[in-house]
Amino acid sequence: MIPPGLDRELADVVGTRWVLTRPGELLAYTSDGLPGYRHDPALVVLPGTRDEALAVVRLLARRNVAFVPRGAGTGLSGGALADGTVVLGLNRLRRILEIDVDNGWAVVEPGVVNAHLSRAVAAYGLHYAPDPSSQSACTIGGNVAENAGGPHCLKYGVTVNHVLALTVALADGSVVTLGSTEGEVSGYDLLGAFVGSEGCFGVVLDATVRLTINPPAVRTMLADFPTIDSAARATSAIIAAGLVPAALEMMDQPTIQAVEASIYAAGYPVDAAAVLLIELDGAAAGLDDDVARVAAACRDGGARDVRVATTEADRQRLWQGRKKAFGAMGRVSSHLVVQDAVIPRTRLPDVLAEIGRIGREEGVTVCNVFHAGDGNLHPNIPYNGNDAGETQRVERAMVRIMEACIAAGGSVTGEHGIGVDKLPYMPRLFSEATLGSMCRLRDCFDPERRMNPGKVVPVRSCREWAMSPAARR
Ligand SMILES: Cc1cc2nc3c(=O)[nH]c(=O)nc-3n(C[C@H](O)[C@H](O)[C@H](O)COP(=O)(O)OP(=O)(O)OC[C@H]3O[C@@H](n4cnc5c(N)ncnc54)[C@H](O)[C@@H]3O)c2cc1C
Repeated sequence: MIPPGLDRELADVVGTRWVLTRPGELLAYTSDGLPGYRHDPALVVLPGTRDEALAVVRLLARRNVAFVPRGAGTGLSGGALADGTVVLGLNRLRRILEIDVDNGWAVVEPGVVNAHLSRAVAAYGLHYAPDPSSQSACTIGGNVAENAGGPHCLKYGVTVNHVLALTVALADGSVVTLGSTEGEVSGYDLLGAFVGSEGCFGVVLDATVRLTINPPAVRTMLADFPTIDSAARATSAIIAAGLVPAALEMMDQPTIQAVEASIYAAGYPVDAAAVLLIELDGAAAGLDDDVARVAAACRDGGARDVRVATTEADRQRLWQGRKKAFGAMGRVSSHLVVQDAVIPRTRLPDVLAEIGRIGREEGVTVCNVFHAGDGNLHPNIPYNGNDAGETQRVERAMVRIMEACIAAGGSVTGEHGIGVDKLPYMPRLFSEATLGSMCRLRDCFDPERRMNPGKVVPVRSCREWAMSPAARR
């Protein structure tokens, strides 16, 4: 319950138009990119400036109201959902405040869309390296909160490796600066602790992010495999050969077929059991030798064909198919679950085989499209959510898949965070003492736990320890 009159007080800060209370307006905020979870917020407030955002946080502190920061809502773990509380939407804060070309950084507001930043600095021969497949929509604030990854994070590192400093509003309305553009700061690494804190530690008001020089040369390859196993083994062989591709992505046959049947068709071979999309970049000298070594590793591993994109348009097309693969699955079924787990790369062949077995046993189609080089799996299951029996089988398959990943020495998120979706697995992965340390760390930032309550760390209360229906089965 929110205090009566809060909507009017918020409207005094941001204007009536930017406080949403009607059910129709709130609908878009009841879920994120994982629509299996639906929470009804009490209201949504959308400040337009940093001062307004801060004033909103301070008002919510005075009125002791819980709230959930939200960027574009593309999260895939049910992280930006507010259950009867306030959603603080940051996506109107979308100004790039400063670009320092010489020192290679930019200061951006939290609502800046990831791809817009790279577009804004392209003329300087720079880009922002972390490139989630959702980059045309997701925001830098959301990326920081999720420590987002992306295809090119295999070589360039995930979000935490590209954030130099943050200005953050804590839940009590105080403002802190974490990190520095001057390099290493002394004291505790609070920036490192903050990145990936999933909206539980503070609201990002601005982020100073590293800009990366565009590589002088790029080669993008597509290798076509007759079995998933051979593609998985080739993945390890490429890395074991000492090559560090900028990206090494895998798509299996159901994914390829979904992409090829959609407007994102990229010319992938529809009869391949799996394809690897491999990108190499760096100095032009020697790059073609690396291409030849990757091609040899693929062919030795059983690839039927390996081709290199010949034009920039060809390269973009290959990437578009990969980046829009989740969207392409929208044609296959009315509902889609997307999972995220990370396993040791060498376990890819047996874990992929196990995922295939689970899919067959449960009678569901698992589509794998993932960051193979990182061992970061994304099993997707398209299904009909109006069919209760099918929904149950999908939930069971998802739990079994996550258990297989844990059993293989993996973890339950490679890049999508814990949110509400992965809460039940946390006690499987961490001891009571470790979870307790996480809670105490959270309390340093937000002792009342008003920010994004009920997420990430299950604490001893009947609600937060409660297992999801799927995990209980
Ligand atoms: C098609 C598709 C492809 C995807 N591909 C990838 C991928 O390749 N790699 C990857 O890592 N993810 C991927 N994602 C997941 C998602 O895009 C990322 O998690 C992204 O970082 C979320 O950003 P957002 O702005 O949408 O955040 P939201 O979903 O709005 O919020 C996510 C979390 O961030 C918090 N948050 C948002 N803004 C702030 C802020 N200013 N301050 C503090 N906390 C904040 C929220 O409370 C929430 O916990 C994909 C999603 C989709 C739908």
